[in-house]
Amino acid sequence: MRITMLNPPYRYGQDTTQWITVPPQGYGGIQWVVATLIDGLLDAGCEILLVGAPGSTPRPGLTVSDATTFDTTLAALRAFAPDVVHDHTNGQLLPAEPPWPAVRTHHLNGAPEYRANNVYLSRAQRQAAGSADAPIIRLPVNPDRYTYRETKDDFLLFLGRVSAHKGAREAAAFAQAAGLPLKLAGPAWEPDYLHGILTDYPDTAEYIGEVGGTRRTDLLAAARALLALSQPLEGPCEGAWIEPGATVVAEAAVSGTPVIATDNGCLAEIAPHVGLALPADQLPSPEEAATILAHLPAPEHLRTTATERWGHHVAAARYLEIYRRAAAGDTWT
Ligand code: UDP
Repeated sequence: MRITMLNPPYRYGQDTTQWITVPPQGYGGIQWVVATLIDGLLDAGCEILLVGAPGSTPRPGLTVSDATTFDTTLAALRAFAPDVVHDHTNGQLLPAEPPWPAVRTHHLNGAPEYRANNVYLSRAQRQAAGSADAPIIRLPVNPDRYTYRETKDDFLLFLGRVSAHKGAREAAAFAQAAGLPLKLAGPAWEPDYLHGILTDYPDTAEYIGEVGGTRRTDLLAAARALLALSQPLEGPCEGAWIEPGATVVAEAAVSGTPVIATDNGCLAEIAPHVGLALPADQLPSPEEAATILAHLPAPEHLRTTATERWGHHVAAARYLEIYRRAAAGDTWT
């Protein structure tokens, strides 16, 4: 099958000459999803044109387009003539009614820009988007891209945007209750918020900046647990943040690292398989934190669970079914 993958084009940091690639140099949830899905689809024999991520590395079966605008994307699509277009850009690079069968993965909160043929990441996200029975495919992970470690170091990890709705402050509070240091990794686009955490938890929280490459995978593998204490606060998509898919959960689990999450959005659905989901407004006491840490699943169980539930081949097979539906003219909302 010939598939065009549309990735949202973003510039990389302060460097306006570079785009965020697939996979990304550092932070990049959607870019990791696209990369992982491409891994699975290439193994399934697909031919893929990647648009919206110039500078990404081509490989057999994968062509990387330079297109980053609506018009250049349409030209690239016409030249490639795909069997199906998979849009991850919320309509940024694809019109409402494209002349090719299209599937759209909704990565944000609320309703997608275009209602037809969306795939959602969780029941919570789908419900908030107003859809009753569109397909749900969890965010995938490719175990081969991660390091697996059974022995852990004595620190907890926060990996993501250092923002209130992502629960970075709650992660520091949990770490303090647990008596363990917290490494905060990720872009801090709200410096005051980060400063407040470092001021209030000086002996617990350490900010290590945005991480990529082996630094990222080493951290994921070494941590005692990943903290994903997402909060239903005002987020980037207007209204309360409902965690849509949470790539970091599968990434940690496949590295043999358990996940301590809240029950916000998708986390209530996925975190209990690889750790636990606490009520978002509940901060554990030191005794409760110790009990939680003592009863987390073992690394081998985590890796197997993540691979079986969210592995890239599982996700690619599910998406291929959906692509075939769309290519056969089926539509859903
Ligand atoms: N990430 C990264 N480096 C960082 C912080 C985050 O590579 O310093 C990655 C992380 O591993 C994950 C993605 O960025 O793949 C964040 O995606 P997630 O779905 O967890 O959060 P969101 O898309 O809501 O920001």
